[in-house]
Amino acid sequence: MSTLYLYNSYNRQKEEFVPITPGHVGLYVCGPTVSGESHLGHARPYITFDVVNRYLQHLGYKVRYVRNITDAGHFEEEGREAEDKVAKKALLEMLEPMELVHKYTSLYHWGMRKFNNLEPSIEPTATGHIIEQINMIEDIIAKGFAYEVNGSVYFDVKKYAAQYPYGKLSGRVIDDLLETTRELEGQEEKRDRADFALWKKAPPEHIMRWKSPWGEGFPGWHIECSAMSSKYLGQRFDIHGGGMDLQFPHHESEIAQSTIAHGCAPVNYWIHNNMITIDGKKMGKAYNNVIKLTELFSGDHPMLEQAYHPMVIRFYILQTHYRSTLDFSNDALKASEKALRRLWEAYEVLQKLPLTDNASASDAELEQKILDFCQACADDMNDDFNTAKVIANLFELAPVINGIKGGQIRADAISQSAQQLMLDTFHTYLESILGLQPLQQNDDSKLDSVLQLVIEMRREARARKDYAASDKIRDMLAAAGIQLKDEKDGAVSYSID
Ligand code: ZN
Repeated sequence: MSTLYLYNSYNRQKEEFVPITPGHVGLYVCGPTVSGESHLGHARPYITFDVVNRYLQHLGYKVRYVRNITDAGHFEEEGREAEDKVAKKALLEMLEPMELVHKYTSLYHWGMRKFNNLEPSIEPTATGHIIEQINMIEDIIAKGFAYEVNGSVYFDVKKYAAQYPYGKLSGRVIDDLLETTRELEGQEEKRDRADFALWKKAPPEHIMRWKSPWGEGFPGWHIECSAMSSKYLGQRFDIHGGGMDLQFPHHESEIAQSTIAHGCAPVNYWIHNNMITIDGKKMGKAYNNVIKLTELFSGDHPMLEQAYHPMVIRFYILQTHYRSTLDFSNDALKASEKALRRLWEAYEVLQKLPLTDNASASDAELEQKILDFCQACADDMNDDFNTAKVIANLFELAPVINGIKGGQIRADAISQSAQQLMLDTFHTYLESILGLQPLQQNDDSKLDSVLQLVIEMRREARARKDYAASDKIRDMLAAAGIQLKDEKDGAVSYSID
């Protein structure tokens, strides 16, 4: 197994990856809060950690990939609004928070499929793990690092920081943390401003509420990830991923909670992807510069000059190393579209090239070049998942492929094994590891192929005078909203309602 080096955000350095259990990897990634639609900014962690998962599997590891769904507690915006309205309306008139959860979870899964992201091994929900969260909070209270006030429970950050390196992950000191903390609720009842909520008492209008030893309430955001990651991956596991914006307070709090509850730091390697920016600003509701995935794929947004295929977005994200910032622009996306098209064309040419059988005439220099670029793909992925360099290597091979096709390079200049190596490299890296797919594979062309087949079957039925069968085909298509039309020249066309 080749050696993988990854940048551990906790220690701020590249480190050799050594799993806790040989041959296995426990990977936890913070998933979405399903109170709204995913946007371009969210696409980056989704795609980054999909490639991490794919690459670990490629290296031969058995990966347990856990990615949660946050569906409880700290709903904002639409969810919050909906909850506030709840008390004033009759049960069926009001928007049930679980309707929102269902709607946005489905939409999120749809987006993940569009991006060709593999499914995680387990996708636990916060609402499905309330008992585990309560148990963990009780444990932290019993160990003296949390306290209950008026039905809410807070983590005692000062006490923790006196004994453990609080702030090491995010690189902040407590005073700094106080300045930037978003958690303003409950300030009057906390012992210290830096303390964060493990459990919140539910106000009367709050519909999502559960019974607990401290009264009815709902869990804090950070505790769900600690409870679910330890349940499925163990008290100490290999890799925890997420966006850089989650380092504080979310991941810093996860470390503190888990360290007290389990007596050890929870994670060996922390991986954080950088942000997508627009004009240098992070994409987010706060900046009013959000482009939702549905808008991105349809082109229906004032900032978009056209619709972008999900594979173009995927390619655009992977063309930059995950720890660098990535600035959105139409020009950048259009350039990615062109580049992906070019690379995929070379791959298709390569697939159709006949294998040469005359190795004696091969060009040693060219052969070496091919070997080097193919080997570089593995080296670059092992160097902290450098997908940008992998793509650059594949681009170096494109002129060789096109040169052979165009006749500028002799067909026998490369040996069969070098040609096969190129083919394997494109297949492995472009398709399996980067998870890319061709742009032209759209649903319309698939539907057209199916309809042409059905039309042919109907023609055959008529030819053998089986009018019952041919009418049945026509009627069933009509019921599905597809009208067949017999043209004068005997051809059959169709229209879709
Ligand atoms: Zn999380």
